[in-house]
Amino acid sequence: MPYNKEIYEKAQEIIEQRRKDAENKNSAIIRLFETMEPEYSALKKEMINSVKEAVKAIDMSPEKAAEFIQQQKIRNLTAQQNIKLLLKKHSLSENYLEIKYFCPECEDTGFKDGKLCECHIKLLKDLAFEEAGKKSPLKFCRFEDFRLDYYSDKAPSKNELSPREKMEEIYSFCKEYTASFDTSSQSVLMQGQTGLGKTHLSLSIAGEVIKKGYSVLYNSAQNIFNTLQKERFGKSDTGGAFEAMVLECDLLVIDDLGAEFFTQFTNAALYNIINTRINMCLPTIISTNLTLSEIENIYSTRISSRLIGEYAVLNFSGNDIRQIKSENNQ
Ligand SMILES: [Zn+2]
Repeated sequence: MPYNKEIYEKAQEIIEQRRKDAENKNSAIIRLFETMEPEYSALKKEMINSVKEAVKAIDMSPEKAAEFIQQQKIRNLTAQQNIKLLLKKHSLSENYLEIKYFCPECEDTGFKDGKLCECHIKLLKDLAFEEAGKKSPLKFCRFEDFRLDYYSDKAPSKNELSPREKMEEIYSFCKEYTASFDTSSQSVLMQGQTGLGKTHLSLSIAGEVIKKGYSVLYNSAQNIFNTLQKERFGKSDTGGAFEAMVLECDLLVIDDLGAEFFTQFTNAALYNIINTRINMCLPTIISTNLTLSEIENIYSTRISSRLIGEYAVLNFSGNDIRQIKSENNQ
């Protein structure tokens, strides 16, 4: 995944800081241990000297050199053994005096075998999402704050469910969806008029999924298309980073599809997002006021048919709850 320059620099800074922190902590531990056990400094010196001494073997005859090196080796191992005993005396683990790196794989250098270490890749990803999240105008909601009692419990007819019963089903679906979420979860289309709680529930899912450690990109359709367009036509320096995030994040939530200014670009971009993510088996949640037939008319049949075939469709119905909400808050 490509990232912009600032993200790479910030990641590098954080990794360097991690290394410094680990080294400083280690120095403090060693200083403390030296005061606890003054013998430790002498043993450490003994280890260093045995290594220095072994170099002298270069000027010796082969037999003598082998014997001399063996002696130094024993000296070194004895010192090591005595340090272990000192640690044991204080019930400290054998690796107590070693540096505890944030990432033992790369010892906080960010690179392993000449490639970016996994910790580095994860950090870049986290930083990029943090950055994208800042641009999102939305604040995360919680399931606990969702009020089912705002929905009418009067069924329109005998054979139909009341708006509240329907919402209870949708609410349970969303809770279940969140609890069992992984990157193979199904995609969801939340469909219904404005003010029925689509945004609240999709934001609740996104918030919980983030807490589980997944990468989530949440934004309005308008913002997503605008940013993609700027990136495509070279008006931003993100180097394709945003598009990669939209296509590759663990969960993408597109809020309010249909409110954006429709163009050929948005139409093609939407199909590309839906299609690519289905092919990569990555879940997407789309909320929209549009019906499936309106989606077909405005965008295309190929988009609506992919949604019908692959998405779980949740129909939000009833009356706009925002008015009841504001009356309640007065
Ligand atoms: Zn690493």
